Amino acid sequence: MRNVYLDNNATTAVAPEVREAMMPFFGELYGNPSSMHAFGGQVAKHVAAAREQVAAFFNCEPDEVIFTSCATESDNTAIRGTADWFGNDLKVVTTAVEHPAVLQPCRRLKAQGVEEVELPVDGVGQIDLDRLRAELKGAKNPLVSAMWANNETGTVFPIREIAEIAKENGAAMHTDAVQAAGKVPLDMTSVPVDFLAISGHKFHAPKGVGALFVRRGAKLKPFMLGGHQESGRRAGTENVAYIVGLAKACELATAQMAEEARQLAALRDRLEAGILAACPNTRVNGDRAHRLPNTLNVSFEYIEGESIAYHLSDLGICISTGSACASGSLDPSHVIRAMGVPFTAVHGSVRFSLSRYNTSADIDYVLEHLPPVIKKLRDLSPFGPGKGPTTFQ
Ligand code: PLP
Repeated sequence: MRNVYLDNNATTAVAPEVREAMMPFFGELYGNPSSMHAFGGQVAKHVAAAREQVAAFFNCEPDEVIFTSCATESDNTAIRGTADWFGNDLKVVTTAVEHPAVLQPCRRLKAQGVEEVELPVDGVGQIDLDRLRAELKGAKNPLVSAMWANNETGTVFPIREIAEIAKENGAAMHTDAVQAAGKVPLDMTSVPVDFLAISGHKFHAPKGVGALFVRRGAKLKPFMLGGHQESGRRAGTENVAYIVGLAKACELATAQMAEEARQLAALRDRLEAGILAACPNTRVNGDRAHRLPNTLNVSFEYIEGESIAYHLSDLGICISTGSACASGSLDPSHVIRAMGVPFTAVHGSVRFSLSRYNTSADIDYVLEHLPPVIKKLRDLSPFGPGKGPTTFQ
């Protein structure tokens, strides 16, 4: 049976070049980069080189890069570290479609008495920029946290404009760029964010390493307390092998981004067109005009996304019904619900997400096997045109 992995927004395969770059640090180069001796100093040089590579990826200075264990840590550091700086005397403005790694720390602050607002989104998952302006007007110590691109739909926010509005209103600005990394350029000289989070495993580095861009002068208290690593901004012995792997993934992504984006979009668009042509009562969720090149979120009305995912899994096709963190639950996705997707389509939403390792033959395989699965599930479903209620209280 063919194996077709289309769940790359959940995680990606480690690139062979990344694996190779990491290997010496599991062997002879095991020193602690903080050690006084030359053996450790040799390893510290590799961490410094990795920091320069990641800084090049962000188009920023090396001292604006903090290595972390994952994007969840990067997001928590930016949000909680800003709140800590202001002694919780701040207003947090975020969006209803953020990943839990942003929503949960924001809601924790709310529970601690901080004013927190989650901006609603329209039918394609975009926020109203005037509403953002209104929320920031006159706010004391505002912090905006808005994602660069959505993990479930691929909708890309106008992040430069959002950051400019934040700056005009004296707000600190954080963006979760986890899904944007490797797919669109993250240029910190043209996008005035203060904090930006990425995660290695979303673009062909291993799980368990991330980074946080912190603009020089940004007001942030450290989140992880302990040793003096990362210039006192993130305690804990550096995960050297993974940091080197992350840097290699950044280098590969930069070299291949434009061509890869074009190829991914072509494959994704063929998949989208094929699905819409073969399966009636199907809709695409997200902003098709402003979308990551690799992501397709589709609602198949009247059937359950989980059933589709299970049937496709039996055929060797890996897709997802929402973010990996939410897919343990049968609750409909908060992102799809926030977009006001009709009830008949909310539960039937699935995500296809591609990577550089997908081929045209993968798309052919899905287009051959998916429509019969949808037809079979629809035949079994008690709902659907002419079958029963299509609206619910
Ligand atoms: N933010 C977004 C948009 C994500 O998609 C994810 C992972 O799914 C995260 C944050 C969390 O990343 P990590 O698992 O590396 O902490």
